[in-house]
Amino acid sequence: MIVVLKPNLDPAEVEKVIAEVAKLGYEPRPIHGKVQTVIAAIGDESTHHTLETLASWPQVEHVHRVQKRYKLVSREAKKGHDSILHIHGQKIGAGQKFCFMAGPCSVESEEQLMTTAQAVKAGGATFLRGGAYKPRTSPYEFQGLAKEGLRILSLAAKEYDLGIITEVLSERDVELVAAHADILQIGARNAQNFALITEAARSGKPILLKRGLSMKIEEWLLAAEYILAHGNPNVMLCERGIRTFETYTRNTLDLGAVAAIKHESHLPIIIDPSQGCGRADLVLELCKAAAALNADGLLIEVHPNPAEAWSDGQQQVDFDLYARLVEELKPFVSAVGRPLE
Ligand code: PEP
Ligand code: MN
Repeated sequence: MIVVLKPNLDPAEVEKVIAEVAKLGYEPRPIHGKVQTVIAAIGDESTHHTLETLASWPQVEHVHRVQKRYKLVSREAKKGHDSILHIHGQKIGAGQKFCFMAGPCSVESEEQLMTTAQAVKAGGATFLRGGAYKPRTSPYEFQGLAKEGLRILSLAAKEYDLGIITEVLSERDVELVAAHADILQIGARNAQNFALITEAARSGKPILLKRGLSMKIEEWLLAAEYILAHGNPNVMLCERGIRTFETYTRNTLDLGAVAAIKHESHLPIIIDPSQGCGRADLVLELCKAAAALNADGLLIEVHPNPAEAWSDGQQQVDFDLYARLVEELKPFVSAVGRPLE
């Protein structure tokens, strides 16, 4: 860490800070400038007491970290290699096949999910999405079919040989959801629910961690760090739009986050264009952008009849648009050198 002291301090005051830095386990190397002293504190910031609290001392102007706060998720942890997740016979990440996870926002009925599973399978999806437990803003809105939804998901996924991705909303449901799902989705509203994240990590199931509604990249990576720190390396990140001043779209899909995550981390990154813009008529263009940015896959909401959907109807694409989207995406996927099959 770097501790910058206030200008024109009495040498005795400088010595007090140097002594404290040493007491906290760092090797202090003071650099005495004409006006100010800067102390380079040598030591592993992830194992030592933080020096940031020294900012409360009257002698101290700033304290700067040198190391990043996350370790296991960082690109350096894998010596520059990207992680590949092996799930339901598929490989996700590191330039592998572009992954389509598709299905309705919510599981509504057996008929709805069976027809959707058939349509998304025909369009190359390898995972079926669908919420059985729904995080709804209003308590009066459809909350999901819960156990019955999980049963329907298992039935449809088995029939069409698809993996299952579904959200787990609460610690007490982790065991049950993990018994049905191939991937546990941690939703935007729970992206910093560390008790839930830890319990999900302990299940050993692969986890798709959405970005929270107003979460910084560092916070998102630190939330993922919890999962790896609890011994579960099977994590993918999902950008699903953040809150901004813009109201034209439901959220602002932060495509820059794809580049940032690839820069910082070895974890796969998935784009959810559906929550990302909240409008079915923009989903196709955002999918193209995600593929062109070399994202590792998409999580798309697809419904047999979006106008009658029990949740998020305005952003779900119908079967025809889904089929067109998959076709139109092919040149973008090929352009970044990923296999189509
Ligand atoms: C969803 O995928 O339907 C969902 C609720 O997502 P998010 O947590 O990103 O809002
Ligand atoms: Mn939704």
